[in-house]
Amino acid sequence: MIDPVLDLIQKRNLSYNISGRDYLIKCLNPEHPDSNPSLRIDKVTGSFHCFACHFKGNIFKYFGVFTNQTPIKVAKLKEKMAVIKSSGTGLDLPKGAQPYTKSFRGISSKTLRGFEAFYTNSEEKLVDRLCFPIKDITGKTVVYVARHVLSDGNPRYVNYPSGVVMPLFPASAPRSVKSVVLVEGIFDMLNLHDKGLNNAICCFGTNTLHKDTKQKLLPFRAQGVTHIFIMFDGDEAGKKAAETLKPLIEEDGFVVEIISLPDGTDPGELGEEDVRSIAEYVRK
Ligand SMILES: [Zn+2]
Repeated sequence: MIDPVLDLIQKRNLSYNISGRDYLIKCLNPEHPDSNPSLRIDKVTGSFHCFACHFKGNIFKYFGVFTNQTPIKVAKLKEKMAVIKSSGTGLDLPKGAQPYTKSFRGISSKTLRGFEAFYTNSEEKLVDRLCFPIKDITGKTVVYVARHVLSDGNPRYVNYPSGVVMPLFPASAPRSVKSVVLVEGIFDMLNLHDKGLNNAICCFGTNTLHKDTKQKLLPFRAQGVTHIFIMFDGDEAGKKAAETLKPLIEEDGFVVEIISLPDGTDPGELGEEDVRSIAEYVRK
């Protein structure tokens, strides 16, 4: 097993203790006489931090060791994968779930099937609802979004279970796509996919903190997405949210463009022709 951090500690004859995810050694700061070891070194990355004097750094840099960072990155990734593996595939289907085979409010049954929609009428909170499994970046189902089948059903949406941090949906982009179109609602996203725009993703409203959305978009960058088109609802809240989010995402190196919709229009209402022209525009 490759362990460059421990290798270096041993080569330098530093005495160490293991403390959770860290190695604990006496502080490396010459100005800090450290009788109790108070410097923590991350086992994987070699980053260190003294909790007494706040001396910070990385032991590879500190000792002038030029390492190939790849094994460290791979080790880190493997560690993450192990956590993911041990956490399984996510939620079980609610009881009484059955496949939804019809179209719904202009969204074809094919598109709904593609997003694994199902109908449930049995659990108390899920009476007469069309549900979608929402998966995180690892493919694990973390929550179901359940929309009342009746347009005046109250509440219109239920997150089941409640209180889960919502991923973007879908949480990753189709292969080799260079841009994504970010919309507010799940039915905005579904409508765009249904009409041929397969790189639309939704952020479940603009009430979630923008810095969360920023964070959730980063993996798209790693997948090769360079452009983000923000297409929020054509109302004051949507416009304001788009303006706030744009500079935040730009900090991560994305090219960001806002697509403004006419007042009172949201992407869930766009017809085939409108979606086609948007698709042509974002693929230019
Ligand atoms: Zn110190």
